[in-house]
Amino acid sequence: MNSCSDKMMCLSKTELFKSLSPEELQKLESRLKERVYPPNTAIVREGAPGDAMFIIKDGKVDVKKREQSTGIDMTIASLGGGACFGEMALLTGNPRSATVMATMATSVFVLEKKDFEALLRENPTISMSLNKIVAERVEAQNIQRGMGVKSLATTNIDADILLLIPKQTITRQKVLPISYANNTLMLGMIKPNDILAIDEVRKFVKGVAIEQVLISEDELKVFMEKDYPEIIKKGEEKIEVSIDNLLDNMDNLQSDILKDMEIEEGKEDEIGVADLESEAQGAPIVRLTNSIIGMALKKGASDIHIEPMEKGCRVRYRIDGMLKEEMMLPRKVILPLISRIKIISKLDITERRMPQDGRITMRIDNKSVDFRVSSVPTKFGEKICTRILDKSNTMLGLDKLISHRPTLDLIREMIAKPYGIIYVTGPTGSGKSTTLYSALAEKNSIDVNISTVEDPIEYDLAGINQVQVNSDIGLDFARVLRAFLRQDPDIILVGETRDKETAKIAVEAALTGHLVFTTLHANDAPSTFMRLNEMGIEPFLVSTSIIGIISQRLVRRICPNCKEKYKPDNVIAKYLELPEDTELYKGKGCDTCNMSGYKGRVGVYEVLSVNESLRHFIGEGADTQTIRQEAIRGGMRSLKDYCLILLNEGLTTVDEVLRTVAIQS
Ligand SMILES: [Zn+2]
Repeated sequence: MNSCSDKMMCLSKTELFKSLSPEELQKLESRLKERVYPPNTAIVREGAPGDAMFIIKDGKVDVKKREQSTGIDMTIASLGGGACFGEMALLTGNPRSATVMATMATSVFVLEKKDFEALLRENPTISMSLNKIVAERVEAQNIQRGMGVKSLATTNIDADILLLIPKQTITRQKVLPISYANNTLMLGMIKPNDILAIDEVRKFVKGVAIEQVLISEDELKVFMEKDYPEIIKKGEEKIEVSIDNLLDNMDNLQSDILKDMEIEEGKEDEIGVADLESEAQGAPIVRLTNSIIGMALKKGASDIHIEPMEKGCRVRYRIDGMLKEEMMLPRKVILPLISRIKIISKLDITERRMPQDGRITMRIDNKSVDFRVSSVPTKFGEKICTRILDKSNTMLGLDKLISHRPTLDLIREMIAKPYGIIYVTGPTGSGKSTTLYSALAEKNSIDVNISTVEDPIEYDLAGINQVQVNSDIGLDFARVLRAFLRQDPDIILVGETRDKETAKIAVEAALTGHLVFTTLHANDAPSTFMRLNEMGIEPFLVSTSIIGIISQRLVRRICPNCKEKYKPDNVIAKYLELPEDTELYKGKGCDTCNMSGYKGRVGVYEVLSVNESLRHFIGEGADTQTIRQEAIRGGMRSLKDYCLILLNEGLTTVDEVLRTVAIQS
């Protein structure tokens, strides 16, 4: 490749020159000189005269600025091929405002001041083209001038200060709360003139002055990856649990507890809070609590129920959607056990008459697991229910969820639409979020802005802006949604459409060119329209905004280890309208499936993709039955039909189908 086209390529990539015509670029190109700098050499130095500008051909440089208080040079930016530097000093004649070091062998094209001036004299049009961009740069620089620079590497920040602003806002807006004194929050910013970022911060920090200081993007990245979790961890109570260690201790656990427990049966109401607290922190109770949690995780439970009963305390796990008793504990462990759980989830242990809820985040085997704990006073004591949210996203992927190819293709076709709204419906625990997140994961790429508002955040997805609803401070779905629309999103996920306002904004977002995913409680796809009408959304708004509906259920999957064929009896076959001599499958029960015959779950889907004729019916507010008929005529496979596919494929059993889906209406 010759040096000439190298230069042209470089110039056309350079923001400063991108508005120049090819002829103008050619004139500019003829004046560029190429220079090569070895690693760790300064190309320009802070304070030196600005006598040239540079365009990086290839290599990498760090832009460094001296922090006044410490005299340490901090890197404020790293630049690579195509980037230019030194142009402001060239234009203004001011001394260099930063030092630029080559961090590897770097070749640059140099435009010297005398050549630049000659170029402008000979080509007034180039001068004109540069005017606008220069004005913008000057303005930006004016705003930044006089602002402090802060190195995060030499700054100590308290967990309390960091927690003023949610982590997601920090990473999304690239801001960092550094310190707070005299009613002033010192806020580190990558772009100190970023008004949107400050607005966002003000949502969380009200009534204080904000002092902006410049921080480097690299340092913020390192800080968030390394320091932030450490600081937060120190600031919060975190419980490190290793499942294997827990289970090592499971043997003899119950007898151990009975031996070590000193509370006498029947006297629990007389126990003082201090006693309770020390009891709850005692080794046997801590171990019992950890074991209950550890076992639940090991068995893949989604919920733990701890239920005081007249004669004891029942612990049940929900696994694959089914609640099963795991252990019955003696009644005397109830108070300390429940207190222990309340302590770690930061609930008030002295309050036993009112419902409470809280949450714990634990690092378990290097995964972040969220526990949502709620307590309700019952006749025999407080019942504790803990929902487990494993936020690792290893299970995500539409093709992992959906084995039926035509259904998978149809859903992929729907999510490929540039705008409109897709509803996922079904009862609680039917896997709606998993479907939505799997869809999001397929859409997630560097050039797409995805924002989600959720309650709770169920999965962590890299590169997606996730916001947790917080009703305590009035941060509800509708409010977050409105804020999103100001942030130029491409795709929005609304965890749940619960109220009219949310439903309305979601529809408006879809109508104004956004792709919106949300969930709704509705029995099946066709009855979703009735739900939306009940929520006060006009049929014509629904018909113009909707792409389609995915209605779903989860059924238990037959354990592959003990799966066997059998012939269903005639009544069942007739009820399911199965052809004669159909063979079905069930699990016999084995060690790998705890003798249940099932392992894991599989989705049942009813996908309604809105075509023109359906759109017409929807717009007219047609009833559910009419829409169902029209949808089936258009090729929709009902929940029941999908179940039959699963039965034929040997993925689930008749019992599961009958338990989950209404077969005959
Ligand atoms: Zn089995």
